[in-house]
Amino acid sequence: MSSRKKTLLKVIILGDSGVGKTSLMQQFVNNKFSHQYKATIGADFLTKEIIIDNNKPVTLQIWDTAGQERFQSLGVAFYRGADCCVLCFDVTNEKSLNNLTSWKDEFLVQSNVSNPQDFPFIIIGNKIDVDDSKKIPSLQKKLHNITHNQLGGLNYPVFETSAKDSINVEAAFEVIAKMALQQEELNAASGGDVNDDYNDAINIHLDGESSGCGC
Ligand code: GDP
Ligand code: MG
Repeated sequence: MSSRKKTLLKVIILGDSGVGKTSLMQQFVNNKFSHQYKATIGADFLTKEIIIDNNKPVTLQIWDTAGQERFQSLGVAFYRGADCCVLCFDVTNEKSLNNLTSWKDEFLVQSNVSNPQDFPFIIIGNKIDVDDSKKIPSLQKKLHNITHNQLGGLNYPVFETSAKDSINVEAAFEVIAKMALQQEELNAASGGDVNDDYNDAINIHLDGESSGCGC
């Protein structure tokens, strides 16, 4: 009875409020973009099936915040069982770039992953469609400093995207999926069945529709 599980990969998107996390997810999953700012409503995650390396179907389950990121209080169910963490900033907002480090730290504290050194993080700088004059001055230099010095000297992949114009969004999520798959395989190999844990979390969320995060 070798019931091989369908590969479900949990991806969480973190970053300051307003950087475009919901927009990136909507663009990737539904090919939609809205100018209207609205706090995230409804489901806590969206799913999309994609094929990696031409032959590996995986389902990405992308968890978005419902605005609680303002208070950095997302609760353990949000983080539990994550296979990849996307750290987002807005290329017009320097504070959001500087906050990447604290989002990473927050993730590591809350998720309690067993491999903080090797856990897959990816960085997205969103809103590259805006006029250059509005972008953070010396962005590449500052970004390099943050990724190489503050984020632990690790070489995380960096994507500059536009959720508005659909630039690099698919490419970023494809890399996210590959990284998450590797992480999931590592989890499986080490015997931990993380998926069961977070499926429990999902049920809590689905059952408690109107109770917000419930965590
Ligand atoms: P979140 O708080 O991180 O989820 O951010 P939202 O997805 O709600 O986006 C915040 C605001 O930025 C909204 O007004 C979006 O329309 C806008 N926005 C998001 N992505 C882009 C983008 O790629 N380019 C531009 N110009 N605006 C964007
Ligand atoms: Mg949002």
